[in-house]
Amino acid sequence: MARRRLVIVGNGMAGLRCLEEILARAPGQFEITVVGAEVVAAYNRVLLSALLAGEVAAVDVLLRPERWYAAQQIDLITGQVAEVLDSAVRCVRLQNGRAIAFDILVLATGSDPIRLSVPGCGLKGVATFRTLGDIAAFERFAASRRPAVVIGGGLLGIEAAYGLARRGVAVTLVHLADRLMERQLDAEGAALLAEAITAKGVRVLLGANTRAIHGTDEAQAVELADGRRLACGLVIMAIGIRPRAALAVSGGLPTNRGIIVDDRMETSLKGVFAIGECAEHRGICYGLVEPCYEQAKVAAAAIAGEASSYRGSALATNLKVSGVPVFSAGDFEGTGEAIIVRDVGVPSFRKLVTRDGRLTGAVLVGDVAEAAWYWELIRSRVLVTPFRDALAFGRAFAEAT
Ligand SMILES: Cc1cc2nc3c(=O)[nH]c(=O)nc-3n(C[C@H](O)[C@H](O)[C@H](O)COP(=O)(O)OP(=O)(O)OC[C@H]3O[C@@H](n4cnc5c(N)ncnc54)[C@H](O)[C@@H]3O)c2cc1C
Repeated sequence: MARRRLVIVGNGMAGLRCLEEILARAPGQFEITVVGAEVVAAYNRVLLSALLAGEVAAVDVLLRPERWYAAQQIDLITGQVAEVLDSAVRCVRLQNGRAIAFDILVLATGSDPIRLSVPGCGLKGVATFRTLGDIAAFERFAASRRPAVVIGGGLLGIEAAYGLARRGVAVTLVHLADRLMERQLDAEGAALLAEAITAKGVRVLLGANTRAIHGTDEAQAVELADGRRLACGLVIMAIGIRPRAALAVSGGLPTNRGIIVDDRMETSLKGVFAIGECAEHRGICYGLVEPCYEQAKVAAAAIAGEASSYRGSALATNLKVSGVPVFSAGDFEGTGEAIIVRDVGVPSFRKLVTRDGRLTGAVLVGDVAEAAWYWELIRSRVLVTPFRDALAFGRAFAEAT
């Protein structure tokens, strides 16, 4: 029997994970083509921050060497954008004109960074932070010893600023809100993080609105709404991401913010799946790698003919931000009783919110050793009343009391 033709567009973290799962579940069943826009095969994007900071080497971020694809008899196409999805004929057309027919298609096209649309945003030296190629440009810039400005105080912006600072660049991090990572941290946790980042050599400006970028050909300064000017030769915009759905749109697939999928991660076109940051499931587009992996697994199972269902991912943030461990989950701002423990020596901050005898939210900065336990308590909704007074001191202490 002829093998079915499987095409995966997007050789990123979700695409590769889905491929690995399909190979494990249905070995030899598909004739596989993988198309990636980047010139290198899939790598660990999460490690790009550590690579920029010089904490890992380029070889550490690669996931599978090209010879692995060859050994699996996979046709790996790098450096090619799939531009058109022809739903009627069931093929994708690449920028070089090649058409690839499929029986099953997986769209794993990730996201594009959003660029701030201010005067000067098109100047040379105005960049975003998403790919291995971006790092090479930042490394070259760092050697010039000129200052840099990073716009956006979310995870990516902080990581970009920290990475450049580690390379000896004088960096200013400009953030519109009055605290860093405002969606993941409460005011006090964010203040502690800002202090830690400042101590690592990043100047942090909060409540700062970018009005324009100045320069003739290249960026030379960022102007803020209050008139301040920050001299720089590099501006990194890290203000958010947008699911990359153009290919799906070209094929007439329903999209909203991302490509709309059902619980099997299948689009409205039978045999066409979307996973990772480009997908929108039950109204949610995820921007962290764990949900992307869960979706990849569900799609692979469906493609292999197994029953599978994705119900959405519970959201917790568990990250190392510029070397500072940060965890947050649940509703940590709403009404409830807050237990707060600070250790200015470490420094660490722990805020636990309980409501009706249950843990409903948590923020940890500095010391996240108990994160998994708090996360379990939030999700299971068990009563914490019996050990409430010991809650802040961790599982071992609570169980001993
Ligand atoms: C610097 C950085 C640090 C991060 N740190 C963390 C972290 O600490 N924790 C965490 O959970 N997440 C982190 N993330 C987010 C995480 O990397 C993403 O959630 C994850 O990579 C999403 O996987 P994906 O496969 O959907 O998209 P991607 O990994 O972006 O892969 C998509 C691929 O598809 C390609 N592509 C797009 N369109 C086409 C097309 N038409 N034709 C061919 N190829 C195409 C793209 O070029 C790209 O290679 C970080 C991201 C960045 C940029």
